[in-house]
Amino acid sequence: MAKGLLSNPIFQDETKAREWLEARIWKDGRVCPHCGVVGESTLMQGKTTRPGLYQCNVKECRQPFTVTVGTLYERSKIPLHKWLAATQLLMSSKKGMSALQIGRMLGISPKSSWFLMHRIRESLRGTDLEPMGGEGKVVEADETFIGGKERNKHKRLRNKKNIGGTGKEAVFSLVERGGRVRSQHVANVSAKTLRPILTAQIDAATSLMTDGAGQYRHMHKDFARHEMVNHEIDEYVRGDAHTNTIESYFAILKRGVIGTYHHVSEAHLKRYLAEFDYRYNERQSLDVDDAQRMEKSVKGIVGKRLTYRRTCREGQPVRA
Ligand SMILES: [Zn+2]
Repeated sequence: MAKGLLSNPIFQDETKAREWLEARIWKDGRVCPHCGVVGESTLMQGKTTRPGLYQCNVKECRQPFTVTVGTLYERSKIPLHKWLAATQLLMSSKKGMSALQIGRMLGISPKSSWFLMHRIRESLRGTDLEPMGGEGKVVEADETFIGGKERNKHKRLRNKKNIGGTGKEAVFSLVERGGRVRSQHVANVSAKTLRPILTAQIDAATSLMTDGAGQYRHMHKDFARHEMVNHEIDEYVRGDAHTNTIESYFAILKRGVIGTYHHVSEAHLKRYLAEFDYRYNERQSLDVDDAQRMEKSVKGIVGKRLTYRRTCREGQPVRA
């Protein structure tokens, strides 16, 4: 699988990789990342100058730069073509790929590979804050748990007291039928935590579908329509009322997290969620192929560097 996937020369040749990235990041002209002026720079061509180094011609600036300045790839010792190859691999595998596996394929150390994968995931984190749904649209909402045994049980067999307990992280996801998914790591699954997320992220004209869990009981006040299916009495579908779309998404997420990543730490959970959300949102049924998905994802590297550093410095789990 991997050979054909990485047949494009941009995944082997550093110059081709750089030129490919320049053509995408500087689509509308070469931007100096220091002063922001477009089209006022010259390629530096000394014998000892590294390839792809430009100098800004703006009098007050005169700074040198490359295409990776101000991006997630900045100051990385990993060659660009390997960044692109890793992104391509991650974008084309349904269940994700472990850092070890990608490291072996690309000839980089497990530690570098782990770091690289997290940066790529960071580039996939959505910045889309538009409300989901709308008139005539259906959004399903549900929660799941990552890490710990309760998550493996059928909903009605779960011990409610264990939910949100040690070793289990709650994930709350919204999916629009025929559309996109949005997942967040939440501190717990109480109405107090979930209601503000629902009202902020879903258009009030939407039909909302959930199960009958207590935290969803009063949501009909916030939405045009709210249907609950009662899993506790084995009711899973009632007309168009069901949560099958979100359950299918959770199945992919869990297979990936359990099968590929084995252990996902609380601090990094949001980045894994970004990875799975991204792949789902750019899936083939929305007419996006692997190459397009990869190309699109690379745009997310720009301007993300500072966000990533801030997240790192906190070193603490960030909860939505
Ligand atoms: Zn400049």
